[in-house]
Amino acid sequence: MNRPGRAGSRARMNKRGVPMRRCVGCMTSFPQKEIVRIALLDGKPAIDKDGRMSGRGAYLCRSMDCFDMAMKKKRLAYAIGARMTADEMAVFREEYLRTIAGAEVNE
Ligand SMILES: [Zn+2]
Repeated sequence: MNRPGRAGSRARMNKRGVPMRRCVGCMTSFPQKEIVRIALLDGKPAIDKDGRMSGRGAYLCRSMDCFDMAMKKKRLAYAIGARMTADEMAVFREEYLRTIAGAEVNE
């Protein structure tokens, strides 16, 4: 009775049973704790630092290249259903930059 997740489960696991999430920038899967979740908060994207925000979410690995790619291709906005002006996008980019620069994984 120790089978891995059933087919059709939304949570993708790697071989070691680590939940994997796919970056909307490079489309590569990373362990959940190594990737940043972006959630929708009041119609705008918000960085879900604790992974506690409910609702739609998208994931980005800790790379500004991926952030910019996701913004340029509108993958992030599409994934979470957000609408952003260029100004809001710039502000959010700053916040994301601070998050990946400051938040080293504390274990
Ligand atoms: Zn990425």
